[in-house]
Amino acid sequence: MWNNSSENSSQSNIVQHSTKTQVVVIGGGFAGMSCVRALRRADVEVKLIDRRNFHLFQPLLYQVASGGLSPANIAAPLRSIFRRQKNAQVLLGAVADFDLTTRNVILEDQSTIPFDYLVVATGSTHHYFGKDAEWEQLAPGLKTIEDATEIRRRVLSAFEEAERTDDLEKRSSLLTFVVVGGGPTGVEMAGAICELAHQSMKNDFRSIDPGKARVVLIENSKLILDRYHATLSAAAARDLTNLGAEIWNETRLMEIKPDHVIVSHAGESKRLDTHTVIWAAGVKASLLGKKLAEAMHSPDQVDRSGRVAVDSQCAVVGHPNIFVTGDLAAFSVADGKTLPGVAPVAVQQGDFVGNLIAKSIRGSRPTKPFKYWDKGNMATIGRSHAILEAGKIRMTGRLAWFAWLFIHIMYLARFENRMLVLFQWFWNYSTRNRTARLITGARNEIANPIENVTSPR
Ligand SMILES: Cc1cc2nc3c(=O)[nH]c(=O)nc-3n(C[C@H](O)[C@H](O)[C@H](O)COP(=O)(O)OP(=O)(O)OC[C@H]3O[C@@H](n4cnc5c(N)ncnc54)[C@H](O)[C@@H]3O)c2cc1C
Repeated sequence: MWNNSSENSSQSNIVQHSTKTQVVVIGGGFAGMSCVRALRRADVEVKLIDRRNFHLFQPLLYQVASGGLSPANIAAPLRSIFRRQKNAQVLLGAVADFDLTTRNVILEDQSTIPFDYLVVATGSTHHYFGKDAEWEQLAPGLKTIEDATEIRRRVLSAFEEAERTDDLEKRSSLLTFVVVGGGPTGVEMAGAICELAHQSMKNDFRSIDPGKARVVLIENSKLILDRYHATLSAAAARDLTNLGAEIWNETRLMEIKPDHVIVSHAGESKRLDTHTVIWAAGVKASLLGKKLAEAMHSPDQVDRSGRVAVDSQCAVVGHPNIFVTGDLAAFSVADGKTLPGVAPVAVQQGDFVGNLIAKSIRGSRPTKPFKYWDKGNMATIGRSHAILEAGKIRMTGRLAWFAWLFIHIMYLARFENRMLVLFQWFWNYSTRNRTARLITGARNEIANPIENVTSPR
């Protein structure tokens, strides 16, 4: 059933009346997708609403941002993923609010979709620690396809502009790339830019030597990848340094300007001239978490990063038919900690909730709590190194990288994507090339391109 509250319902173009239980899933990311799949045999009607028409494999976004893969390699249309699942309908739309009294989801265009069960899985977004308005434009984060192509545009445009200028200071600042945040995304991004500059593009320019590009990774704490065991974190730092990155630990970002950043280290401020800053330092939950808490009249149900507190079955307190899963959920485990915002948590929670709803429809609601099976964490550093930690197992180097590659390929949606990525990877690996180095999107702002042209050496 689809209503349009602003119009007479008889004028609404999509009106379906059904007696079946209505399950509305918001978000076709890892959590939403696995929830819908788990409901494939249930006697329900599932509506999967996403503001995008595709599922995005975020762990490989950095490859798009660094010209290694094309956007279509890491995304798959939701409609095609669920084309064989007859009880599921994909709806393109952005959810804006909830009316829990009438059990309706409200979309941005004010149309409404009723639900018996609701699963909210809208993930997270960038967090600039209160400086969103100032920093977001200057330092894009990596969360969407648009973010990735924008980063790719900025990085590649900086090389292009450096090739055209004969102002050596400007050239040096154009060839300085700053990545903020030494977590997995920051490390992956820094490693990929090093390879792009020092290997893939090393013979492509005439006025500049891309091999001289500086990639500076700024990290507030003592170690990069500090959630991993210290030996793994040290191995990652070594691999990244070997690729040519500079790691500035215990360094705090104070200011971002179009042509420089100011950082603070050991109480001293330092200026670093750069035109390209990439944000990989923080995320916060999607705004729908706050909207849901407001609709429940319990604003305290969201934590400081906007995640919704859920019970042991991923349901929100007082609303057993409303579930929150994935990055948007604050699922408490021992010691007051919550589960991390990673893909396996999202997949397992989505699957758990889908099965729980399916069983509830068939008879009584199971009482079993959700239990996360932690299969380990991994991060990659460049084209052939990674770190892997699974319980007591710790791996570094090429072996870890092959494990990383295998797992990432396996989890990509659609067989064609797996084959394409595998082929692309094999090509990149053996040629050190990055073939998706396209500058697309808004034109780069070069003050006066004609003035800046220098003749090639
Ligand atoms: C660059 C990057 C690298 C990562 N690398 C790894 C990794 O190596 N390993 C790992 O385990 N995890 C990794 N993660 C984290 C992992 O991607 C997330 O934990 C996971 O995507 C969370 O799944 P989710 O379903 O909760 O949200 P998402 O996958 O973010 O999906 C949310 C969906 O909701 C939709 N949506 C949002 N708002 C609305 C709205 N208002 N209306 C309708 N639809 C909406 C979005 O379009 C999206 O499709 C990475 C994340 C990023 C950004």
